[in-house]
Order: sequence, then C-alpha cells, then structure tokens
Amino acid sequence: MCIFCKIVNKEIPSNLVAENDDFMAFHDINPKAPIHILIIPKQHVESFHEVSGEMMAAITPFIQEIAVKTGVSKTGYRVISNIGENGGQEVKHLHWHLLGGARLAWGHFADADAKDFF
Ligand code: 5GP
Ligand code: ZN
Repeated sequence: MCIFCKIVNKEIPSNLVAENDDFMAFHDINPKAPIHILIIPKQHVESFHEVSGEMMAAITPFIQEIAVKTGVSKTGYRVISNIGENGGQEVKHLHWHLLGGARLAWGHFADADAKDFF
C-alpha cells in the first residue's frame, strides 16, 4: 500500500485540513511555502495522467474550498501536480500541491528551496 493510501486509512498520521468521502487535504511534511497543502483522492490513482475527467470535475471545488479555508484565495496561490520521473513525482498517488502565503518564485523548479519563500 502506498504512503498516501496509509494516510487515507489513518495508518500514518497527517496534519489534516479537511476531508470528505472522496478527497483529503493535509499539510505537506516538508513545506516549500508558508502554506503548502497536499490534496489527494482517497481512491488510489497513480498520477494526473490516469485521472478521469469525472474525478477532476469533482476535486476542483474541493481544492477551491481548501484555498478559501487556508486563507490564500484572496492573495493568490499555485496548484501543481507532478507527474512521473521528469515531473519530479516522488509519491505515486495522485496529489495536488496547493502553495501560497507568499509571492511564489517562478522558474526555480529544479532546486526550489524553502528559504527562497520566507
Ligand atoms: P511529489 O514530489 O510526489 O510531487 O510530492 C510528494 C510530497 O509529499 C512532498 O512534498 C513530500 O514532502 C510530501 N510527503 C512525503 N511523505 C509524506 C508524509 O508522510 N506526510 C506528509 N504530510 N507529506 C509527505
Ligand atoms: Zn495510494
């Protein structure tokens, strides 16, 4: 079972922001911005490349709600899904990074460092 499935099953603790029957949002363990939330489907889907249009449609308002709940909706934020090796995907369970709380750099993806954001 993958690490995010274990978080879904509460076998591994997480700092939860919100959940419903289908999706879960929790704080990234290694934040790269003042607000760094991971948003996942509870169902195991390997990456964005495998996600159905139906699931995308359903998760969109959930992500928007998390942006409101974490206070970044007015100031702006970024949503990223890394896909596969070149995309830098470490956890092979579909997730979106919701990043905000500071003006985010653009074009430093190769070696982003948290200190750049504070
Ligand atoms: P990826 O590189 O796959 O796009 O992102 C995986 C993210 O998951 C990383 O930002 C990493 O810090 C985070 N992460 C890995 N393991 C855990 C964990 O056990 N708990 C939490 N909350 N985040 C994790
Ligand atoms: Zn999984």
